[in-house]
Amino acid sequence: MTLEFWQEEFETLEKKDLQQLQLERLNKTIESACRSLFYGELYSKKKIKPGVIKDISQITELPFTTKQDLRDNFPYGFLSLPKKDIIRLHSSSGTTGNPTVIFHNRHDLDSWANLMARSLFCAGVRDTDVFQNICGYGLFTGGLGFQYGIETLGALSIPAGAGNSLRQIKLMRDYGTTAAHAIPSYLGRLYEVFEAEGLDPKKDTQLKTLVIGAEPHTDAQRKRIEEMYGVRAFNSFGLSEMNGPGVAFECTHQNGLHIWEDSYLVEIIDPETLQPVPDGEYGELVMTTLDREAMPLIRYRTRDITRIIPGECECGRTHRRIDRITGRSDDMFIIKGCNVFPMQIEGVLMKIPEVGSDYMINLETMNGADEMVVEVEVKSDWFRGDIKRLDSLSKTITRQIRDEVLAKPIVKLVEAGSIPKSEGKAIRVTDNRKNGLLN
Ligand SMILES: [Zn+2]
Repeated sequence: MTLEFWQEEFETLEKKDLQQLQLERLNKTIESACRSLFYGELYSKKKIKPGVIKDISQITELPFTTKQDLRDNFPYGFLSLPKKDIIRLHSSSGTTGNPTVIFHNRHDLDSWANLMARSLFCAGVRDTDVFQNICGYGLFTGGLGFQYGIETLGALSIPAGAGNSLRQIKLMRDYGTTAAHAIPSYLGRLYEVFEAEGLDPKKDTQLKTLVIGAEPHTDAQRKRIEEMYGVRAFNSFGLSEMNGPGVAFECTHQNGLHIWEDSYLVEIIDPETLQPVPDGEYGELVMTTLDREAMPLIRYRTRDITRIIPGECECGRTHRRIDRITGRSDDMFIIKGCNVFPMQIEGVLMKIPEVGSDYMINLETMNGADEMVVEVEVKSDWFRGDIKRLDSLSKTITRQIRDEVLAKPIVKLVEAGSIPKSEGKAIRVTDNRKNGLLN
């Protein structure tokens, strides 16, 4: 087997060399962070000075940064450089309160594009590929983040944007798209359009690689996508506070996501005690930017739940791997006294062949009691089948969800396509309970 890398000198650094690089970059990051209003004030209050970190493990002595801090210091409180040096911003939609905004100078955008190219290369994309980026451009980071990465890698990019499935299919067929990026819930809907047009993506396109990310998904959903399209699908992880995509990516071994440790310092903490957890245990991902000049973030609490996968990867990359995101610490809901992550329910549903591509979890108060109503789309040929078969399917789903999350759901089977689709990330949970905490 030939080992191939985008930047071998960084991707295969020995642990001690990687830690030395992290240490140098961390101290530089603290120095530049001190020039921002937020860190300037916080660090002088806590007497934290540049150069204070002598060993990378001392990171735990620094305070955390939270999304609330970003909102409270909106818009420019985290800027470490004069505004004239900033050339782009990306921001969340900010439907609740101030949006989260991240600023970049030229160095930041170049290093982000390089990390994206490294990520795509790691998943097997090459300059010979025709790459269709099926995702929103604009303030959302998935569009431009991938765009610059594809161009840096040298593949032919098709900036297709989100939605308009018939056009997506036409682009794929006209230009012989071999690789594409999309959110997993969209790929399920796109497949339905292929079917409605009498087309089979396995035969009627040249797709061989799909990159899926931007919303948490299970391995069962990945396998479905691979079967539907006859491709290999790779998990991409990022968050806008850490630029966007290109933070961690699966290599061709598909056994966890290499997180780029020369650019990000990674910690996994117990979200209750805030103490680090050992490798292999699940906790909240905390990240520090090591190569961002305009807006460094130090010990940022991402709220994403994952774990470090112990051991080395066969691909030769030394950067550690994180497991797929199992949920966000703020996604979890409590029903009938049980802690439930939506991903657990998806994990059950996606393994049942009769289940279609969408589902919805509605938390309701019924006759004074809280109930979890799970609406499940069933494949069309099944939905039109006889009542007895549907009834037995409903019972199977009910039992399997109860076994997984310990709370018994009310399962409602609906026809494929009947759950309302959102334009961006799929909305999976609504909370209509009298004392509901979500929404
Ligand atoms: Zn690997």
